[in-house]
This record gives sequence, C-alpha cells and structure tokens, in this order.
Amino acid sequence: MQSIDKLSLNSYTLPELKELFSEWGEPAYRAKQVYEWLLKGKMPDEMTNISKPLRARLNELTYTGVDIERRLVSPKDGTVKYLFRLHDGNLIEGVLMKYKYGNTLCISTQVGCNMGCAFCASTLSGCVRNLQAGEMLSEVLAVEKDTQKDDGKHRAVTNIVLMGSGEPLDNYDHTVRFLKLVSAAEGINISQRNISVSTCGLADKIRTLPDDGVHVTLSVSLHAPNDEIRSSLMPVNRAYPMHEVLSAAKEYSEKTGRRVVFEYALIRGVNDSAENALELSHRLRNMNCHVNLIPLNTVKERNLCGVSREDAHRFCRRLEELNISATVRREMGSDIEGACGQLRRRVMNEGGVE
Ligand code: SF4
Repeated sequence: MQSIDKLSLNSYTLPELKELFSEWGEPAYRAKQVYEWLLKGKMPDEMTNISKPLRARLNELTYTGVDIERRLVSPKDGTVKYLFRLHDGNLIEGVLMKYKYGNTLCISTQVGCNMGCAFCASTLSGCVRNLQAGEMLSEVLAVEKDTQKDDGKHRAVTNIVLMGSGEPLDNYDHTVRFLKLVSAAEGINISQRNISVSTCGLADKIRTLPDDGVHVTLSVSLHAPNDEIRSSLMPVNRAYPMHEVLSAAKEYSEKTGRRVVFEYALIRGVNDSAENALELSHRLRNMNCHVNLIPLNTVKERNLCGVSREDAHRFCRRLEELNISATVRREMGSDIEGACGQLRRRVMNEGGVE
C-alpha cells in the first residue's frame, strides 16, 4: 500500500486516521467524528463539532472530492450518466443503473486509460493520471447525495462496478484502498460481494488481490477466443497472453471461491462466429465462470460495429449448448452515450465545460 503521508484526507481509513490523531495528541473519538464527516462528503471547515485549530490542521492535508458537472438521464430506462469534475479540473464519468434489486454505480479509477483497447473511447488520449481512493469514494458519495435529492428519500448505491474509465489494476494501491474504504463496517459498508472489479487482464496483479484482502467479483475483459483476435483488439494481450490471464483468473476463483465473469463485447465480423463460440468454450472449460455478452456500443472514433441483439442471443445459445454459462447484458443508457468515455470526450471536444 502507498505511504499515507502522500494521501488526501478522504483517502485515509479509520485506523490510519486514529494513528494520525494519536501522533497529533488527539483522542481516537475525534478521528471517528472526522471520519463520519468525511463519509458525508464534508470538508474540514464544515465539521461543526471539531475545534478551529484541529480544522486548520486538517486543512493542511489535501482533500480530493468530486463535483457533478453534468447529469444525463435516460428517458428509456432511468440510467443516469454523470460527468464529474475533479479538484484539478479533470473530468471523469460514472453511470448509475437501476435494477429491481438495487442501484449499481459504475465508477472510474483513472482519468483516461493507457491500455489502448480498440473499442474504447476512454483510452484515446491515454492516461492523464490515477485517481486517489478518496476520489473514487467521492464518486459514490456524490451519487448517493444526488439520488437522495431525486426522490426525497435515502436510496443507497447498493452495488459498485469499477468499470468506468481506467484500468483499476493499473492503479492498484488506490483501488485496493478504495475497496477497503467502501466496504469497511464503520464506513458506507458495501459488501465486497456486491462489488465487481473489471480488468483487461493484468495477470500479476490479479494474482495478488486475494492476499491483499480483496474478494470482490473479478470481471475480466476477454473479448476474444484466441490470442490473434485478442491482440488485435487489446494491445495488453501482448504483455499478458490469454493463457496467463485465464490461469490467473482460475487461481483467483480458487482462492476466493468466487465465480469469475468474462466480459465479451460482440463485434460484427471480428469475434461473433459459431467457430469463435466453440473456441471460447474450449478455453473456458473446467472454470468456475460466467460469460457476459455485450453487443458493442459503436464508438464513432473507431471502425468497429456491434452485433444485433438477435445475433448476440444466438451466440449466447451456442455457448450454453457447449456448457458455458452465459447471458446477454441488458443494454442500458445507450441513448445517453452509456459507453465508457463517450460523454467525457464529447464535452472535451465541445471545448470543455464552463
Ligand atoms: S476498455 Fe477499460 S482497460 Fe480497455 S482502454 Fe477502455 S478503460 Fe482502459
């Protein structure tokens, strides 16, 4: 984990805050009070039960919050797309999807991304910077507050997916820290069972997650049945070829007892044939896994088209006949630029936000 002296105030866990307060000669209960304020998204100056000198001391640490810059609501399914502004002016995206069982929030872990996947708008300008754990937490808190405002009552974010812009495992320390913060019993307490981390397959990092206390649902972007197709879509496959990714995912599943999800974006004429389904089934045989099929959301800057939902269901049936558990993901928010990175790019191309 990252040394705590470089952290923003809202990236501290409660035990770390207690340690800092003890160094400052402050009682542990003060740390708890400050921590509770931070979970309400409050800055030191708004912490009314904290003395002025202590607030001044807290103000010397950085605070990394987010503000909602834009909010688009899908008239079709109620999905809400958020554009967040960070303290340094950078923009990131989040998406709130409403299901019968609760609300799932998709958050970003980096500004942009270095992974270069051919179908993704988030990577077109590379990675600008990593997010701090406190910024990821602020995405959740900002949406909680906004949702509350929406219907007049508290309706918590019940599930989280780390699937917005960025490769979470390329920002490993802050991702792990965020997972601890958001699932802490004394915090907002979202169970790790209700959290998914999506990775393009950084095999060495997948292997260390369980030892670092992470047992979330691991979601691996596979998108291809073999190295040739995968390398053409995902440059990361040259560093971590499929056999390594699959063996790391298997190890993760065995250590945590969790079923691994493989994301597979269906791209017309690239990875959607019956032979592709057969080859994929061979690669995934004997794994505790599920395949999530997604008809690709067309990204204007790239020359790749998604398949129809009918064709996606055909591919799905083929996998099921081959004894691979699979579903076609419900398409949400496609009318509001639901795919990762699209809204941010459009706003940036418009000349930024006022
Ligand atoms: S799909 Fe994910 S890992 Fe790939 S470039 Fe986009 S944000 Fe990065």
